[in-house]
Amino acid sequence: MQLRFACEDTGAEYVSRKGWQQATLSRCPLHPQGGCRFARHGTYARVSPPGTLITRDYCPDGHRTFSLLPDCYAARLSGQLSEVEAVVRAVEQAPSQAAACVGLRLDIELPGVQRFVTRRVQAVHQALVVLKGLVPERFGRCGPTLLAFALVLGVSGVLVALRGLAEPWLQQLPTPLGFSPRRQPGGGRDRARQHRAGADPPGLMA
Ligand SMILES: [Zn+2]
Repeated sequence: MQLRFACEDTGAEYVSRKGWQQATLSRCPLHPQGGCRFARHGTYARVSPPGTLITRDYCPDGHRTFSLLPDCYAARLSGQLSEVEAVVRAVEQAPSQAAACVGLRLDIELPGVQRFVTRRVQAVHQALVVLKGLVPERFGRCGPTLLAFALVLGVSGVLVALRGLAEPWLQQLPTPLGFSPRRQPGGGRDRARQHRAGADPPGLMA
């Protein structure tokens, strides 16, 4: 499973300072009381930025691997959250997705470009809708857009900031912000389940 590595680096900074060498879990998420054979389990490489390595830990007793994803990286998408945010914000501000693609210098005629953009916009907006429900006192009155969340939070990098703010729910929030691979655009039942699971402690869910 993926876990958060709290880190203020950009991807380039993380690579240049070999941030994976500092990334570690103090104890096994499955057995916080100790007594298991939890240990480091090497690293795996990400494509972008080049040179990125992600730390892995492993609990042989729980048969589970944990990867420590720095805050700047998108989960289960290549690249960084800042790149995802740039795409979503462009769409939020453009009169159409096609116009946003022009602004992003993406060739909308190319196969996969529409899907590339739609996937990011839907996944991010779905996560914001869930967060509005989880933290209504903070986000209940704003729209489920990065522009609206940026105003509430007073930051430019909303997704990176939300990795920290939403840490208790990262296992329930859809990727690339959260770590839940399950994503059902418009799926009310899934959303309801995520709300109920929201009060569980972080890092202990399957
Ligand atoms: Zn363990």
